[in-house]
Amino acid sequence: MSSKKEEIKINKANLQKKLNNYTEKVVLETIEDLLKRPEFKDICTCEQCLLDIASYALNRLPAKYIASSQGELRTRVTEFENQVQVDVISTVTRAIEIVSRDPRHQG
Ligand SMILES: [Zn+2]
Repeated sequence: MSSKKEEIKINKANLQKKLNNYTEKVVLETIEDLLKRPEFKDICTCEQCLLDIASYALNRLPAKYIASSQGELRTRVTEFENQVQVDVISTVTRAIEIVSRDPRHQG
């Protein structure tokens, strides 16, 4: 008994490359913006701390995977930005505070 399904092999590496979580882009831009604020001028910006800040925020915000045509993409991205902007700022602010209180970087 062999079903056709068992023969299907999808190109996971290729698909993975094309799956982009738009929240990642928004979070990274928000981190950059917030770190320019005077109250965060002493925050460590080493790779470890930035990754910890980004991971903290991304684990608490909804993922937004978009696979659609460009025009549609723009509309959906704008809707998404308006929806989550406030959440992103407060979540990233909390992430910066928590990571900088107990940084995992060496030295
Ligand atoms: Zn650091």
